[in-house]
Amino acid sequence: GDTPLFGEMAGDIAVSYEFFPPKTEKMEAQLWDAITELAPLAPKFVSVTYGAGGSTRERTHATVARIRRETNLVPAAHLTCVAASKGEIDEIADEYWEAGVRHIVALRGDPQPQDNGVFRAHPEGYASAAALVEGLRKRHDFEISVAAYPEMHPEASSAQSDLDNLKRKIDAGSTRAITQFFFSADAYFRFLDKALAAGITAPIVPGIMPVTSFAAIRRMSANTEIPASLEALFADLDARPGPRALVAAVAAADLCKRLYDGGVRNFHFYTLNKADQTYAICQLLGLRPKETV
Ligand code: FAD
Repeated sequence: GDTPLFGEMAGDIAVSYEFFPPKTEKMEAQLWDAITELAPLAPKFVSVTYGAGGSTRERTHATVARIRRETNLVPAAHLTCVAASKGEIDEIADEYWEAGVRHIVALRGDPQPQDNGVFRAHPEGYASAAALVEGLRKRHDFEISVAAYPEMHPEASSAQSDLDNLKRKIDAGSTRAITQFFFSADAYFRFLDKALAAGITAPIVPGIMPVTSFAAIRRMSANTEIPASLEALFADLDARPGPRALVAAVAAADLCKRLYDGGVRNFHFYTLNKADQTYAICQLLGLRPKETV
């Protein structure tokens, strides 16, 4: 028939957008261009990451505060356990609460470079995301999101223990999980089934990342299955960034459509502080701009 591939997408979805705190004025301008362009799509919330090693405490806070001041968007601040005592985490949480921020994405964080791939908790800090969620909950009535890994966290001893850990994080008081990026809808749906069987009923929102480079993806997440058909789509595009970005947006939209067809209505986008791909994917999913934000 004449129905285009995405022609029947109803737009009945809710999205959230993830940004990272800028390091330079130029990057700050780029971030704000992206926020301004994406805001009319009325995301449920926008989240701002926290740098590896806890290095961006100030920049994350400044970005979240500016979003609060200058837009009607609902900001969510990422926070990790790395290199901070419980007292310091309490202070950060208090600052956010006082600034009107009500949503925290609570993470353990990655091991620091000097620790050779093994996470070492700060002597007076939190040792896991579950412990952090518990600590934050006691302090303030935050909405809390946590991380989930459809293809297992690389440090987990088994898929089951990783699932047990996710259950602990939810039971400690989080509202939703957001997944690590993945490229196989089947892998996501298998994980949803297992999570449900483990008694996890909180939403597990897929984290969507358009392909940048397979090398980078393999470096970021060793466990992520890259379907051969996807790899074939990107053949010979390494030196062609323009076409590559267009193909990546269509491939990500295709993944979203598979998820949508399986009942998914919430999507979290790793924007990398750029609007075009994310905007295009949302458009293909039927989302349309609302009144100016
Ligand atoms: P946890 O849930 O604590 O799990 C870490 C590992 O320990 C898992 O393998 C888990 O199975 C295991 N584990 C935990 N407790 C136990 C236990 N009691 N017994 C046995 N095993 C256990 N990183 C940043 O630095 N800044 C960010 O802003 C950031 N944002 C992210 C956003 C999302 C949506 C995602 C998916 C990841 C993000 N990360 C971020 C990366 C994250 O910090 C790393 O993946 C980190 O290695 C694990 O964090 P976690 O919160 O999943 O840890």
